[in-house]
Amino acid sequence: MPFDLKPVIGLEIHLVLNTKSKLFCSCLNQAEETRPNFNICPVCWGQPGVLPVLNQEAVRKVILLGLALKGKVADEFWFDRKNYFYPDLPKGYQISQFYRPLISGGFLEINGQKINLERVHLEEDTAKFWHQAGGESFLDFNRAGLPLAEIVTKPELESPEQVRSFLQELQEIVQAFEISEAKMEAGQMRCDLNVSLRPEKEKEKLYPKTEIKNLNSFRAAERALLYEIKRQSKLWLDHKDLLETTRGWDAEKEITVAQRSKEEVKDYRYFPEPDLPIFSLTKDDFPFRVQDLEKSLPDLPSQQRKYWQDKYDLSEDKVRVLFSSPQRSSFIQETIDGLKDWIVDQGEIEGSQEEIWQISRKKLISLVANWFLNYYLVFLEECSQKEDAVSVEDFIDFLVLLYQKKMSNHLGRKILLAMIKTSRPPKELMEEEKKKDSPVKQDLSLILDELIKSNPLLIEKIKSGQENVIHFLIGQAVKKTKGRVNPGRIKDLLKKKLEL
Ligand SMILES: [Zn+2]
Repeated sequence: MPFDLKPVIGLEIHLVLNTKSKLFCSCLNQAEETRPNFNICPVCWGQPGVLPVLNQEAVRKVILLGLALKGKVADEFWFDRKNYFYPDLPKGYQISQFYRPLISGGFLEINGQKINLERVHLEEDTAKFWHQAGGESFLDFNRAGLPLAEIVTKPELESPEQVRSFLQELQEIVQAFEISEAKMEAGQMRCDLNVSLRPEKEKEKLYPKTEIKNLNSFRAAERALLYEIKRQSKLWLDHKDLLETTRGWDAEKEITVAQRSKEEVKDYRYFPEPDLPIFSLTKDDFPFRVQDLEKSLPDLPSQQRKYWQDKYDLSEDKVRVLFSSPQRSSFIQETIDGLKDWIVDQGEIEGSQEEIWQISRKKLISLVANWFLNYYLVFLEECSQKEDAVSVEDFIDFLVLLYQKKMSNHLGRKILLAMIKTSRPPKELMEEEKKKDSPVKQDLSLILDELIKSNPLLIEKIKSGQENVIHFLIGQAVKKTKGRVNPGRIKDLLKKKLEL
């Protein structure tokens, strides 16, 4: 960064809410639908003469999000028409919220720094454009009318890394609270960035900004910002003016490019949506009460992480992965609880249950973390298996075998892989593996005797000093033991037999 320029970054994030149906009609909200224009009706298709009906579940989800982010929920709210002409919006307007968003203010804490929010509002998504290589374009209305929460931050973010952390934290919250699936690659979480630079001392003054639209991965957001900050820094250094533009991110070339976009006309002529009433959250317009939602709110993922860190003495990085979903959380907890019960039942150590646990917990917990993170997740990925491939009981039994040193780490990896592939219990697999192994080990001596007997010429050569020839015999032995015995061990035994 040249001299004392500071980036000033604000975010606008769109989240597709995971409701059953769309925002103003009963069409299904289905991300996985691949047939174009399948989940559509005259309302979301924008036919004249139809009336929208508000999906209350979408309102509930935005309120949950607002409460999680410590924002203020409006007692009364309504929708406004955002007027513009574009083929993905055949009505000629989008139903959004401008004058009275559902949520005002709020914040998200990133590494101890509060990033304040402007608002969170509810709006409908537009249709999706399919631009073909030949120049033809198609429209798919499955996406039109999906419920979107738009989150607008104040321009308080200061670096690409911080933006990435913000997006990751937000994604964790909405996934944990079942507000949105928030898969960026599926377009369920999309991000626009506003970025400008200012001299460090000029905290109040705002300089012209560029807007980078539609970033659909954490990496794209981070890379686009790095590029744009560099580009703007150069303009500052060259004493050139920055034009306020909308830019897109070219992921292949890794540059931002100026766009001609529908946003160029900034006058949307907002006015209250006449087809929908003013809604009240204090009267009985909705089947839920804000106070009840607030009371039922679970801890934020950051609070939960802190809890697990303290409870199990694990690093934040490990906790992030080990407790990243409710399903995985309970798997890990049940595994640890199971190991605790097991060690207490052993009765090998004197003391109360808690005392016994305190002695062994560190070792057992790191066994769980190590095998889950370094092997289980890796093997699942290799075998394209789901996380429930191995039951908690089998995973506990497996770790017990390792803890008791009945199984080496090497064999452990083999067994775990087999457990994932076959769903069979670890003891059974281990017995099988050992049976396969032991005759070979006993037989090694016999195999070597055989080799010595049938290769008198080679033995002579070896004894007369051509020791390299021994590798041929080792190779033969490796073949006969099907690679189950370490070549080093074969060499040792062979040398012993030949009295070398
Ligand atoms: Zn519809």
